[in-house]
Amino acid sequence: MADLYSPEEVSARSFSDNPSTESSEQPSEVVPKLLPIVHPAGDMAEIDYYLPGCPPKENLIKDVLVPLINGDSPNVPKKSVCADCSRTMEHVEFDKVHRRIEGEPDPDKCFLSQGYVCMGSVTLGRCGALCSAAGVPCHGCGGPSMDILREPSHDVYNCIINRISHLSKMPHKDVEKQLYDIGHIVYGFVIGSTIMEDKKVSLIPQLVKK
Ligand code: SF4
Ligand code: SF4
Repeated sequence: MADLYSPEEVSARSFSDNPSTESSEQPSEVVPKLLPIVHPAGDMAEIDYYLPGCPPKENLIKDVLVPLINGDSPNVPKKSVCADCSRTMEHVEFDKVHRRIEGEPDPDKCFLSQGYVCMGSVTLGRCGALCSAAGVPCHGCGGPSMDILREPSHDVYNCIINRISHLSKMPHKDVEKQLYDIGHIVYGFVIGSTIMEDKKVSLIPQLVKK
């Protein structure tokens, strides 16, 4: 997410311009200078297993760590969040994409079918669809789904637009016009990913502030 801001803005927000901390000088010693962009850990070192989620859920940690401790390979699910969601996805004609704070969504219907941006279909499902069960659209903290990672022409942005357009019959352009703050809402948990940035269809390069 820091890639949406310049290093100076990130530094100021951390040390001197934050309502919840006492304003102070930005450190110039010991703390290294921030690089122009955030690098994922996998760019710097070989990673054996990623535990996605913000934070990774306790069952996922257990399902990966216990087999590893026992010398076995973990068997982790590869489905998307929607696979665990009990809400019903259906075609409903509408012409407005809602912000989360607007209206009262039906507790049984898929958020996308009601015009709320839910990232469940493009997000790796290792949380049991916690948020949609609690009445909140998924904001993608599990990272991109296997389909998105594997398919070069699939990006979280175009896949979400396609799905909303398909469910609502709204033209793509109308959905795109109504999507606000793409950096935080759609790319919030993938913006540091080299795989996602390298996709030709990705808007991440346009959003990254160096
Ligand atoms: S898009 Fe969201 S609400 Fe709809 S089925 Fe998937 S996780 Fe559930
Ligand atoms: S539903 Fe989405 S945002 Fe919520 S915990 Fe699961 S992956 Fe994260």
